[in-house]
Amino acid sequence: MKIKAALLREPNKPYTIEELELEPPREHEVLVKYAYTGYCHTDLHMALGEVQIALPMIAGHECAGVVEAVGSGVTNVVPGDHVACTWMVPCGTCPTCRRGMGNICMGNFEAFLGGTMLDGTCRQTDKDGNVIRHCNFVSGFSDHAVVPDTGVIPLPKEFPLDVAALMSCCIPTGWGAVFNTAQVAPGDAVVVFGLGGVGLNVLRAAAMRQAYPLIAVDLEESKEDLAREFGATHFICNSKEDPVGVIQKLCGGANVAFEAIGDPGAIVQAWWCLAPAGKLVVVGVTPQDAVANMPFFVLPLQQRQILGNLYGGISTHLDIPKLVNLGMTSDVHYEKLISGKFKLEQINDVAEAMLKRQIRGRWVCEWE
Ligand SMILES: [Zn+2]
Ligand SMILES: [Zn+2]
Repeated sequence: MKIKAALLREPNKPYTIEELELEPPREHEVLVKYAYTGYCHTDLHMALGEVQIALPMIAGHECAGVVEAVGSGVTNVVPGDHVACTWMVPCGTCPTCRRGMGNICMGNFEAFLGGTMLDGTCRQTDKDGNVIRHCNFVSGFSDHAVVPDTGVIPLPKEFPLDVAALMSCCIPTGWGAVFNTAQVAPGDAVVVFGLGGVGLNVLRAAAMRQAYPLIAVDLEESKEDLAREFGATHFICNSKEDPVGVIQKLCGGANVAFEAIGDPGAIVQAWWCLAPAGKLVVVGVTPQDAVANMPFFVLPLQQRQILGNLYGGISTHLDIPKLVNLGMTSDVHYEKLISGKFKLEQINDVAEAMLKRQIRGRWVCEWE
């Protein structure tokens, strides 16, 4: 079938909108018609060539839609089901999967970075017959995609599909960072650097975990109202003042500091904000060659910890339905994350707006 998609053909070049040919789903694969696709900060890293990934590929990794067809052997969904599609598909048998960490599955890592399906091949070609790769199994900026059946999570039909798209990335990444990776305790002093889609979820989850004080830090002063709406008790604009002194004076340092943008400068600032025995949680994906300069003298002396967080440490099939249920029963503000909707043809403008820090929360591509 013919599909319309946004492609990254070369690093640091604009997306191209192209018509492609998509094959039907094979065994244990599902054809999904997307309803919404979010534009994540990691998409920008990929577009700028800061994260090396096999090209050319259909961009996008945060998407939800409706199942249109299934290949042989698929038992978890049927046509008509609403699904969120996950950008990591655990193999279930590698050493990390066996240890319950399918979010960092090593068995499927080559396919993940190589932009193929699980069998090492791709399902789409351009008008000249050239193979086009998949972004992280899901190819989000495409009106339809073929995805592995183990990467689709069925959702209740009453759950809005625009919010469902965020179940692919920013919601589980943010909530999992708080509950799984950092295990924030009530009363912990928490600071969150960077209020993008992920950072706002970290903030809301920490608020519901009763963190205090809960300090939001962002380069944009205009995000203060949003930060407070998501539960921040304090806001610091780090393009105007150094948050380290303010936080050390306010509470003697943070028990947990989250960095949710992937900026080495912010990671260093977060490190200096910690209290003794504090945890630095790096949530944002940094450019691949980025380094941070931090003194480690205090690491053993104060028993500090540095933790990486990928996909919130979640088990996709277990935790995404739980987060959906949370959204339907609690005041988690998922719907407030979405501040803009755009058409595929506007994707280069969206990338530009993100680069200029003009996006509050998430903008999602709305499909026909
Ligand atoms: Zn993402
Ligand atoms: Zn695995």
